Amino acid sequence: MDEIPYNSSFIMVVDDDPSMRLMMSSALESLGLCVKEAEDGIQALTILENMIPDLLLLDVMMPGMDGFEVCARLKKNPLLSEIPIVLVTGNNDIDSIQRAFELGITDFVTKPIPWALIGYRINFLLRATKSFTDLKENQKRLSHAQQLAGMGTWSWDLHTDTIWFSEEVMQIFNYDPHGFDASFQSFISSVHPADRERVLYATSIAIETNTSYSIDHQLMLCDGKTCFVHTEASVISDRHGTPIKLEGAIQDITKRKEAENQISRLAFFDTLTGLPNRTLYQDHLKRIHSRSEIENTQYALLFIDIDEFKTINDTLGHHLGDVLLQQLALRLKESVRSEDFAASGMVARLGGDEFVVIIDTFNSSEDLAIIAQRIISNLRCPVMLEESEVSVTGSIGISIFPDDGTDTATLIKHADIAMYSAKDMGKNTFRYFNQVMHVAATLQLEIEKALKMAINNNEFLMHYQPQVDLLTKKIVAFESLIRWNNPTLGIVAPATFIPLAEKSNFIKELDRWVISKVFGQIRNWLDMGVGGFKVAINLSGKSIVQNDISEFVLQQLEKQFIDPNLIQIEITEGILMLDADAAERTLYKLKNIGVSLAIDDFGTGYSSLQYLHRLPVDTIKIDQSFVSKISDINQKEPLISTIIALAQSMELLIVAEGIEREVQNDYLSINHCHIGQGYLYSYPVPAEQVPLLLVCYNKKASYSNPDSQST
Ligand code: C2E
Ligand code: MG
Ligand code: MG
Repeated sequence: MDEIPYNSSFIMVVDDDPSMRLMMSSALESLGLCVKEAEDGIQALTILENMIPDLLLLDVMMPGMDGFEVCARLKKNPLLSEIPIVLVTGNNDIDSIQRAFELGITDFVTKPIPWALIGYRINFLLRATKSFTDLKENQKRLSHAQQLAGMGTWSWDLHTDTIWFSEEVMQIFNYDPHGFDASFQSFISSVHPADRERVLYATSIAIETNTSYSIDHQLMLCDGKTCFVHTEASVISDRHGTPIKLEGAIQDITKRKEAENQISRLAFFDTLTGLPNRTLYQDHLKRIHSRSEIENTQYALLFIDIDEFKTINDTLGHHLGDVLLQQLALRLKESVRSEDFAASGMVARLGGDEFVVIIDTFNSSEDLAIIAQRIISNLRCPVMLEESEVSVTGSIGISIFPDDGTDTATLIKHADIAMYSAKDMGKNTFRYFNQVMHVAATLQLEIEKALKMAINNNEFLMHYQPQVDLLTKKIVAFESLIRWNNPTLGIVAPATFIPLAEKSNFIKELDRWVISKVFGQIRNWLDMGVGGFKVAINLSGKSIVQNDISEFVLQQLEKQFIDPNLIQIEITEGILMLDADAAERTLYKLKNIGVSLAIDDFGTGYSSLQYLHRLPVDTIKIDQSFVSKISDINQKEPLISTIIALAQSMELLIVAEGIEREVQNDYLSINHCHIGQGYLYSYPVPAEQVPLLLVCYNKKASYSNPDSQST
């Protein structure tokens, strides 16, 4: 292929007259154009096989193949059809010019050629051709980009009521160009009925006010599918300002809408149950609240908590626990959806096993009772989980606007209080909020507040209750028991404040305070020469499970130079319900330090022999509720016998709690219980009384049993 100078246009001159070719070449070359000559049509076509000129100057009359034939062949060849052709013809040869135009030439020059101007004329044509090709190229790019963006253009002629859609629109929306009725009415009927009025309104307002608009709506496609589109349109007016057409762009935004919907599902719906989540519930509640305020109507909140869900979840495993929650969510929806009376509501999941129902239409509180009762019975129906039946119950608290609160925060708080009250009533029931509950809850809050300040205010103290060897009658240990003396509340029992401390996590701080206080006391006693007994400390399950207390125990033992053998840690069986694995880890750490471990209140909680075997326990404390039943030395107490037999088989020490009467002491002693604790021997006493108690008690013991040695 011949070399063409870079950046200069290349012109091909086809003429059988050598002098014409020469004159033409020199005229063009003088302006920097490159020229290639061909002496007839056939030679021109041969050259064109190898190089494509920017323009072809073509003589009409040539031997062999004339200019028309060359022109016709070029137009048929897709590679060459775009080459601009300038026909060189005789003056007044109108017929040739007419024929050549029909064949698709670009321009013509007539002889005699104006040699001084011809170069400029060709340059001008080259520039026009370049603009034309650029424009075509841009249109192609635009169309490609529009296809990628799922976008096209349209125009609606208001006079003729015809809509024109670009090819892209036809493709995107799968319109059949033949079966398509291009009227506005037919377009509007393809807009989704839910959006039709909005689209009509936007269009008419734009025409009326001569403005533009943008709108998202759904479109029903011929194949029955629905898609989302975004339209931008503006009104075109004539010179008098009268609208004559609407022009716009339309884009398929179905994928974007789907993504938006997915995001909103994640943001507003609970992924496990598909119920509205806390965010959507709060949003909904705000709306219902404002409406009820304006319209002076009632609405109600039902707080639902599944009873003992944590235990069920731990027993089933988390996967089945999730399946159970999904089933319960369905039942809640069912319970509220009922159409047999005028109440409607929304069920949401607040997290864990907590659900809420907002009832925004109801006639009376009886309607709410019907819903609550239905929820309770629906929850109670057994659920099949991997071939085993599981039954759960729920507790419900109800608060009503405006009677139980005029703002959402108060109503939420009151529904919550009512729910806890339902739990206190024995669960599996519902309670309307009332002011008595409010007073109780307020008192509870007050206690919680006071608790947090009690350590700094020095309001806690420890009492010690002896544990007596049932054979020797000697004191072998003391259980430390916390006491709270608050200036306003008076003496508050541990049974009242320990559960509150556990609820608020303050228990971890309190347990640490007890450990350092008791260890400090032991050090004092040792320094005074008082010793020879163990001291038991009660620790909350939370301290064991959530917080590795063993390091603190070790650190305090070292601080006070105390032999770990002197310490016994008491925990309840409930600890196993919190997190059995974490409990096991901490208990082994404590055991390795050298302290001994006791299971307190044995037999009242979630007794799992399997776990008992796993834990490094030394002692079992029989709960006082069993001991209190003993009233006769010959009586059969199968539970006590079983616990003792179990402890014996595991070689554990047995302590009986709450011994108040001689008969209980004798019964337990005969039945091989090792140690007793209770008011019969002594009430819990302040630390100062411990040395005296030891002296008196162990002396008394030596009297009753001369062989034993006093401590
Ligand atoms: P617990 O560990 O089972 O303690 C035994 C409870 O029975 C004590 O109640 C004690 O005063 C009482 N008691 C002792 N002998 C008799 C008796 O013969 N008859 C009757 N009816 N009761 C008797 P208290 O001191 O009110 O403690 C209640 C519970 O509070 C304790 O039960 C324990 O679970 C918890 N607690 C006590 N002190 C602490 C502490 O320092 N830390 C933690 N975390 N919990 C503690
Ligand atoms: Mg105890
Ligand atoms: Mg106990």
